[in-house]
Amino acid sequence: MDSQNGQRRNPQNTVSESWDCIVIGAGVAGLGFAIRAVRSGLRVLVIEGKSFPREKVCGGCLNHRAQNHLRELGVLGQVLHEGIAITDFVVHCDQHVSSWKIPSMVSIRRSTLDETLAQEALSSGCEIQWRTRGTVLDAGESQEAIVRIQQVDAPECVKKISAKMVVVAAGLTRSPIQQEDRWTQHITEGSRIGVHALSPIELLRARLPSSGWLLDLVDKKQLHMLIGRAGYLGICLADGGQVDFAAAIAPDKLRSSGGIAEVVDSILGDCRCDGQIKDLELNWSATPALTRTSTVVAMGKTYLIGDALGYVEPFTGEGMSWALESAKQLAEIVCSKGSSEDSDRVLRWDRWARRERATKQWVANWVAAQSRSPRRCAWILKGLDACPPVRRFLMKKAMQ
Ligand SMILES: Cc1cc2nc3c(=O)[nH]c(=O)nc-3n(C[C@H](O)[C@H](O)[C@H](O)COP(=O)(O)OP(=O)(O)OC[C@H]3O[C@@H](n4cnc5c(N)ncnc54)[C@H](O)[C@@H]3O)c2cc1C
Repeated sequence: MDSQNGQRRNPQNTVSESWDCIVIGAGVAGLGFAIRAVRSGLRVLVIEGKSFPREKVCGGCLNHRAQNHLRELGVLGQVLHEGIAITDFVVHCDQHVSSWKIPSMVSIRRSTLDETLAQEALSSGCEIQWRTRGTVLDAGESQEAIVRIQQVDAPECVKKISAKMVVVAAGLTRSPIQQEDRWTQHITEGSRIGVHALSPIELLRARLPSSGWLLDLVDKKQLHMLIGRAGYLGICLADGGQVDFAAAIAPDKLRSSGGIAEVVDSILGDCRCDGQIKDLELNWSATPALTRTSTVVAMGKTYLIGDALGYVEPFTGEGMSWALESAKQLAEIVCSKGSSEDSDRVLRWDRWARRERATKQWVANWVAAQSRSPRRCAWILKGLDACPPVRRFLMKKAMQ
């Protein structure tokens, strides 16, 4: 898809166009919301800082809840066609290996998934401006919300546009609202950071020919999760002949080691998995601190969704389903005909976000806390392995 140049210099600095809805960020949350909003009859503009296709830090595993959302959005067929059906989840920690059968997990690169959603948004009638950065200037407490947009390749090209509603779906950076002190958030102390790289299978086969875990994950379509002292690492096969490496690592371990690849190798070493990822010279990307909560989730006519609302380690396939769920719920609150006053919508969004965090995210918090101790994790896994009915019950719960 070609990036488009959408704006010119606006010397008067006045508001030059008005939309029903501006969505900032074309990740799964932003595009999920945009498709639902345009289908409900709104004129929707999506602003995205990158051009597509682009990769981003993500393991790319879609659980069944995320897949249900993609079905509603009309793209599941294509995602299943492109992606890889994962059959087993294999956890390594402190020399213990535990293998779980997982129904309906699909692995897909974010470049493929987000491009598919973007095509659906465009054919549903959304406009998308690529390589354009959005900043919320006025959240719309007394009038329409105002967004400043700036072309990445021509920073002098800036203009102000307005909308009856702005949705910030900019992920962990929350860059569109960073200048505004009132959008407070809490970042959990000691939070890990996310890192990610892709490698062609052929490179791995050539450089790590005798690694058993590698052969298994490629041939048996397994998702491997390795828990070490510096963090945990997920590895699985993705589409396009690529192997996806995604990890949450402790920032202090990163500072004291040579780099991301060295930390990842230390996790492989803790789990007694052979191979040196460092030798592959992969192109790693990283995120800011992962575990965070937005204390303000909406203001005036501006709403946060997806990771911009908050994120909790670990990545168990919950992140994208949570992002897609938030897109659906917000669309139900703000896109229905004759819906309520701004203040009432803000209240409803705040209530939804608090309830969801309380009921869903405590599980992720608990798992993240256990992952800090590989030995404790190994004991928990050994206990579960000795008790198949409990394992079946937990898997059933996870799939609900
Ligand atoms: C290491 C790691 C592994 C993970 N693995 C999984 C997994 O296997 N399965 C899963 O379900 N979840 C996983 N997650 C979580 C998942 O990646 C996120 O929850 C999900 O991407 C959130 O989607 P989003 O749309 O809110 O944000 P994002 O996907 O981050 O999208 C935000 C978009 O906004 C754009 N943007 C940002 N600022 C601006 C701006 N000012 N103007 C214009 N555009 C802007 C960005 O370019 C980006 O395209 C993982 C996370 C990490 C860190």
